[in-house]
Amino acid sequence: MMFGVTIHYVNGNLTKARIECINQLYNKKRVMARVGDIVALRIISTMNGKIHASIEGPELGVLFSKCIKCASNVIRTTSGVKCVECGWTEERKLSNNFGNANFIKLRPKADK
Ligand SMILES: [Zn+2]
Repeated sequence: MMFGVTIHYVNGNLTKARIECINQLYNKKRVMARVGDIVALRIISTMNGKIHASIEGPELGVLFSKCIKCASNVIRTTSGVKCVECGWTEERKLSNNFGNANFIKLRPKADK
């Protein structure tokens, strides 16, 4: 499975370039992330004009997510996230930093 992500920050610095990134996932049964999630990745290599990145590692993974059903906030569960409003649960590869207040400074601002 591969999916494209948009990189907003490189090492915590906002990058204006919209880099298309291919993330190769080895465990195909897991939902790692959804469109709209903010995800920490490690760049492995750049080949053939594509950036290869990994989501494996305790500090890597989803930093911020919303319920796909009702767009409310979600909290961490053992295997993913749970919506605080409607109770929807879904698997995610979460970062250790998921929900970390320090992350607030990394949220996208009006990046035009
Ligand atoms: Zn919900």
